Amino acid sequence: MGKKFKKIAVLTSGGDAPGMNPAVRAVVRKALAEGVEVVGVVGGYKGLIENTLIPFTPRSVSNIITKGGTFLYSERCLEFKTEEGMAAAIETCRKENIEGIIAIGGDGTFRGATDLARRGIPTIGIPATIDNDITATDYTLGYDTAMNTVLTMVDDLRDTCESHARCNVVEVMGRDCGCIALNTGIATGAIGIAISELEFDEEALLARARALKADGKRGMIVMVSEGIPAIKGADYCEKLTARLNEILDSRFSRLAHVVRGGSPTLRDRVTATEMGVLAVELLLKGESNMVICEIDGKLQPVEINFALILDRMYKNKLKDGDLEMFSAEQVEEMRTICAKRKAEIERLNQIALDVCK
Ligand code: ADP
Repeated sequence: MGKKFKKIAVLTSGGDAPGMNPAVRAVVRKALAEGVEVVGVVGGYKGLIENTLIPFTPRSVSNIITKGGTFLYSERCLEFKTEEGMAAAIETCRKENIEGIIAIGGDGTFRGATDLARRGIPTIGIPATIDNDITATDYTLGYDTAMNTVLTMVDDLRDTCESHARCNVVEVMGRDCGCIALNTGIATGAIGIAISELEFDEEALLARARALKADGKRGMIVMVSEGIPAIKGADYCEKLTARLNEILDSRFSRLAHVVRGGSPTLRDRVTATEMGVLAVELLLKGESNMVICEIDGKLQPVEINFALILDRMYKNKLKDGDLEMFSAEQVEEMRTICAKRKAEIERLNQIALDVCK
């Protein structure tokens, strides 16, 4: 039997994402139902350093399930990465009798969580970022909401594209991960999708636009993930639009922070609720240093260190010695997960190409 927890804390950190509020709500209600006191940390890790805590009752989280953003607020906090910052955060936990933390955010948040766990504060992570860029999990909170927001906006752009026989290049968020561009590209019938994970053949796209125009197609959408201008130059989308404009009237729209907020979709609310409940269960069972992942449709905990290094492997950012703490089987498992994710992206990209006629 693990120890009996009396008090835990929940925080949101890093970039906000729809689904954070439903996750906090679930954590609060589940913890209270288990007889455990729960406090909210205002402003992410900064709030832990500065001891800005709010006590929760079940009513404290009333009516937040429909809200985007995070009502606990989120701030980037560089001080948390320093020894002094970490010591102040640990001091708050000791002083306030916080025996465990549930941290909701992206990979930076999990780096902070693993530091806390190493210093004796049990911590469980919940993945929330619209980019779906955490390799260990098939799903991160906010992803579905963001994609549906993109869908609504690009559908509206399509109306005008069709009326005026026009092409619209659309840039969407997702620096290291083209998931949003790929899926919304398929869903909006884009004639081309450019993501940083795959080679993008610009000449083939222009040839396709020419052929489709000759075939009588009027409206066209080209979807570009944020990672592409990061590689090819900040004005890449403008340049691509200028080249398309030689074929047909073309415009460029950047959908950036306008798709970061908004009321969470059903998918985000349900998954956030399931993840929040599981996070409390795991913490109370004595687990720590874990992030909750969705793998092949099932929620399961993955060790944070494994998740962080797997992510670096997938993004070709491994540093010397990164793999040393893992067994040969674990490294093989990481390689298998990376290959599976890449294969899925290639499969979807091929489907997009097959149907863009
Ligand atoms: P995200 O969680 O969305 O990836 P950030 O990368 O901004 O967002 O990380 C959120 C917060 O997590 C940071 O402001 C910082 O307080 C903490 N953090 C990030 N990286 C580290 C790290 N290497 N060590 C400790 N804490 C970190």
